[in-house]
Amino acid sequence: MTDPAPQSDILDLGAPGLSAWLKARGIAPYRTAQILRWICLRQMDRFEDMTDLGKDLREELAQNFTIPRLDVLERAESSDGSEKFLFGLADGQSVEAVLMPERDHHTLCVSSQIGCAMGCAFCRTGAEGLSRNLTAGEMVAQVRDVLAMLQGPDRLTNLVFMGMGEPLANYENLRTALSLILDAHQGLSFAGRRVTVSTAGLASKIVGLGQDTRVNLAISLNAVDDETRSAIMPVNRIHPIRDLLAACDAFPLRPGRRITFEYVLLAGVNDSLAEARELARMLSPRRAKINLIPFNPHDRAPYERPDEAAVLAFQQVLLKANFTAVIRQSKGADIAAACGQLRAARQGVSE
Ligand code: SF4
Repeated sequence: MTDPAPQSDILDLGAPGLSAWLKARGIAPYRTAQILRWICLRQMDRFEDMTDLGKDLREELAQNFTIPRLDVLERAESSDGSEKFLFGLADGQSVEAVLMPERDHHTLCVSSQIGCAMGCAFCRTGAEGLSRNLTAGEMVAQVRDVLAMLQGPDRLTNLVFMGMGEPLANYENLRTALSLILDAHQGLSFAGRRVTVSTAGLASKIVGLGQDTRVNLAISLNAVDDETRSAIMPVNRIHPIRDLLAACDAFPLRPGRRITFEYVLLAGVNDSLAEARELARMLSPRRAKINLIPFNPHDRAPYERPDEAAVLAFQQVLLKANFTAVIRQSKGADIAAACGQLRAARQGVSE
């Protein structure tokens, strides 16, 4: 392997990369698990404290790698209990993660890119374009750092890759990050059924995600016809609904699991009862559950939130068709927790 740049983030390598680096130096591969356990399970930040490694190896690791923590630039709590973190990165960029309390655990919404190139018309992050991909280490660090902040009953057990960015557009780094997040032996030990990756519809990457990992799949669907979907989600012009559903059908869905379809309700755009019926028809042969998200208005999108009666009527159609259809509010609306809004506020973009 080519050597990583001096003083690079050790987690960017993933376990296979670290093993290869050690092997190239004649060091036994079992050291990989020792090193990663110190970092992931024991939350250790310094190689010199890894007492079961020899002094020479500790020094060589310290000369070549860092174990970075993210800077907490802002930590804001919402009245609904969710907490938004704005993390500063080594190059001065920043990225968001949102911690959401559930009945007996927490879910962390993780970002995969700084900004996003997908350009969904209802999304604040999309309005700003893509700055860069996050590294694998930067994705793992969001989870590792929040785990380190939580104590006792505030268990963080669930992750959703639904923060800033399109995870499947940063696939190799996502795969490396997920392998560390899911690894029970030397990683952060999350259960695959408790980790969800959401895509705007990069159909060509969906099956690979299911083959490479054991995570759940969520699709940000948001329309039932190509004309409407292409108007609000440009990715649909490349991967239309038929291709997207074909990729979902080919996704290796594990027993007892379902694909989640997210549907942001935009007043007068995609929220009619006819569209609800079409959604039920479209998904009826599939193991699917549906999250309905009434749009959270912001100044970068020309859409309105449907009134409550319209949201409930849309949901009723799906419930009558025997779907699990849950209305979800954007968590932390009062702290600008909708996708991309806290970072935008910090950058001086008007709220
Ligand atoms: S909704 Fe997701 S995929 Fe679409 S622009 Fe926003 S961050 Fe990107």
